[in-house]
Amino acid sequence: NQMILLKRRPVGMPTEADFELSERSTAGLADGEALVKTLYLSLDPYMRGIMDEKDSYLPPVKLGEAMRGHVVGIVVESRSATLVPGDHVHGMGGWQHYNVATAAGTWRKIDPALAPLPAWLGPLGLPGWTAYIGLMDLASPKPGETVVVSSAAGAVGTVAGQLARIAGCRVVGIAGGPDKCRYVVDEVGFDACVDYKAGNLIGDLAKATPDGIDINFENVGGAVLDAVWPRMNRYSRAVVSGLIAQYNQTAPSLGPDWSTLLRNRINVRGFIISDHVAEIPNAVRQVATLLREGKIRTRDDVVDGLDKASSAFIGMLNGKNFGKLMVRLAGA
Ligand code: NDP
Repeated sequence: NQMILLKRRPVGMPTEADFELSERSTAGLADGEALVKTLYLSLDPYMRGIMDEKDSYLPPVKLGEAMRGHVVGIVVESRSATLVPGDHVHGMGGWQHYNVATAAGTWRKIDPALAPLPAWLGPLGLPGWTAYIGLMDLASPKPGETVVVSSAAGAVGTVAGQLARIAGCRVVGIAGGPDKCRYVVDEVGFDACVDYKAGNLIGDLAKATPDGIDINFENVGGAVLDAVWPRMNRYSRAVVSGLIAQYNQTAPSLGPDWSTLLRNRINVRGFIISDHVAEIPNAVRQVATLLREGKIRTRDDVVDGLDKASSAFIGMLNGKNFGKLMVRLAGA
């Protein structure tokens, strides 16, 4: 079983030398277990956190262990009553060709007729759950409100912004570079997008949000959050989904200006999707319907071959991915 291991813990931005391609045999199946062949492997920002020794909100990967990640695969052997060969499944596995799905694990059957396999790592997977629950359940968007979404061209951001549009809000994205901004407005349908790399983030954001900001869906932190924060309206809400600008930081950073939070009674809500497992089926149903009706549009960024996983992951931390990043393995 070919796999990619965590070889050493990165300091700052990970490098290829932190990963190692390795080959290990898989133990036989116990009762209740199934062998899953990986078709698609998701690459996600939280993986930077589990490369560190200290707990992020998830336990760290041990040195010499396979990197963890969500997988879409097909059951090829089974001693389970519920998973039979040929079933397509989604679950938490490793960066490897084969994973063992256990009864206690996170594996669930997926229906490729409802949406193509990559969608189960995008709008119907972790990014979609995060967008739907973070926006709809935790931020309660109302028609006419202004919603700002950072990392707007990304897997979570595109879905969050489109859900806000569907809820009748004016949606402003923040993304890196003119191509991503054009995509966010012209193809995904945001009302505006601010390129934070263009050099005038504060002024450009002010122009794009003349009535201030009612909901901030935060994916980035750092300078992007600093620019958003002073524009937050009275009774506005901020959901802090991620802080990718800080994931490779080696020194502590200055936080937002909390006096604005006090003055404008901003309700800030940090959340981790694993606390909301019971709401996931509803999120999948809602987003699947919107996908089928063509009301949500997403973009996949697919790289071929497990050996490309570590370089693609490092690329994502540098903004090189454009859409939901995943690895396609042989046979997908
Ligand atoms: P994306 O598809 O958005 O990919 C990551 C993007 O982050 C890059 O393409 C890049 O876009 C942007 N980025 C990287 N570094 C910086 C920086 N220094 N400043 C600004 N932007 C940067 O990934 P996801 O959609 O999967 O994840 C988005 C966020 O959601 C992450 O913060 C992630 O941790 C969070 N998340 C949270 C969950 C939860 O349970 N709370 C669950 C899942 C995701 P650009 O080119 O625009 O800079």
